[in-house]
Amino acid sequence: MNNKKEIRTLQNFIGGKWINAETNATFDDLNPLDDSLYIRAAKSSANDIHKAVAAAKATFPIYRNTLPKDRERWLLRIAEIMEARKADLVDCLIDEIGSPVQKALFEYDKGLTMVRAAAGLCRYMRGETIPSDAPGKFSMTIREPLGVVAIITPFNVPLIKNTRLVSNALAVGNTIVQLPSEMAPHLTVLFAEIVNEAGFMPGAYNVVTGNGHEIGDYLTGHKDVSFVSFTGSSVVGQHINEVCAKNKTPNTLELGGKNPTVILADVDLAQVVPLAARSIFMYAGQACIGSSRFYVERPIYNEFVKRFSMVASKLGMGDLRDPNTVIAPIISERQRARVKDHISDAVAKGATVAFGGGWVGNRCQPTLLTDVKEDMTVCKTETFGPITSIYPIDSYEEGLAKANDTEYGLSSAIFTKDIDRAFHFARNIGAGMCHINGMTIHDEAHVPFGGNGESGVGREGTDADMEAMTELKWVTVQL
Ligand code: NAD
Repeated sequence: MNNKKEIRTLQNFIGGKWINAETNATFDDLNPLDDSLYIRAAKSSANDIHKAVAAAKATFPIYRNTLPKDRERWLLRIAEIMEARKADLVDCLIDEIGSPVQKALFEYDKGLTMVRAAAGLCRYMRGETIPSDAPGKFSMTIREPLGVVAIITPFNVPLIKNTRLVSNALAVGNTIVQLPSEMAPHLTVLFAEIVNEAGFMPGAYNVVTGNGHEIGDYLTGHKDVSFVSFTGSSVVGQHINEVCAKNKTPNTLELGGKNPTVILADVDLAQVVPLAARSIFMYAGQACIGSSRFYVERPIYNEFVKRFSMVASKLGMGDLRDPNTVIAPIISERQRARVKDHISDAVAKGATVAFGGGWVGNRCQPTLLTDVKEDMTVCKTETFGPITSIYPIDSYEEGLAKANDTEYGLSSAIFTKDIDRAFHFARNIGAGMCHINGMTIHDEAHVPFGGNGESGVGREGTDADMEAMTELKWVTVQL
């Protein structure tokens, strides 16, 4: 008997058709658990990007004039087909990017809410009437879609990003070219199959797979692209911002984070420690809003470290399809080297490993560092792995100052029963998001999600995407 699994080769989705890259080239997409070949995908080049942008551009004048009730119906149909294809999506999240099943199901459920919320946007694209100083002049704004939107997505939450960004862009009448992460092309191809089946016209949504580092500039620098939505690392985000500036292409950048959690002495550690663990170790710290810095008031510091280590030691590292498994493999060899480097640099410079630091295959143990100093890479730089640093603080004020001592500004959290301090923190933390008595990891379809500084520019979510992906036109009528 031949037990060899047949490896599929994914194609681009352009103008409603599945087609090979022009050169017929492909690349390997590996399962991060054991680096086995998961799937092959089209390795696109500049011409494939040009074809996809041309298809989106040609479709835009027709698609923008579709009725809200039709776009709403197609979007809600996406949610129905996602429900029918739940097993495919969850399997893909597990085998393509190493999601433990609990993270895959969380992402799937969140994705459904994103699509359904986007359906509501179709009827919410509104301008307003404006009083005019000119006698007899009627003055108003009309909200219009921008045109071809480029969407570039990371590997870690591909379904959340697709369901939010693609759905919101389609809801307001834009057409799309998406370049998914080269480490997660299959999830986006599955999503394109679903969008296609849902009834969207050919050319409204196009997907080109390939290596973003090689072909991304052809998309973000394309003169026919009217808007760029990028999610990924701060380094690539900076580059994209510069490329966009050449054509004055507006963009939102959702980038990395070094998210702080401040814990004051009045909390109940039995409640806080499990949340602390979840806020960094979910999907092995490969979350932009994971908490990689904890500032804990000194009276409870030692007890916090002890309990945090205990909880970390019990986090499941077994079968990814076991609901108790939390710790995922690290996505790639390059990223594993980064995680190892951050730990060894910290240890070499005097940090203490309170728990973890070891590896099982491609999985890094949940790792808690104490005695972390400014000269250690892990102190200020995003690791994107299951590592967090725990610092003692002598006062709330010190916690706030240290939490703000960063170039990032994505998510943040404070745990305390003192409502005045909690609210003071929310008002004074330099992050785009703040959660009082909750984890840094939190997202909903209709909130303004995003950060400041190295964490990005702009916000996403139903309202924010509508603002970013449309423009107001001023129209007057002389009566
Ligand atoms: P990455 O920056 O390496 O890649 C992201 C995407 O950019 C990929 O699709 C890649 O192919 C593409 N890309 C690379 N060079 C490009 C170029 N020149 N032009 C256009 N596209 C290009 O990031 P990653 O490793 O996939 O994801 C991890 C990073 O994403 C982390 O820093 C994480 O914090 C961040 N992230 C942020 C959010 C958020 O909402 N703020 C969400 C998830 C992940």
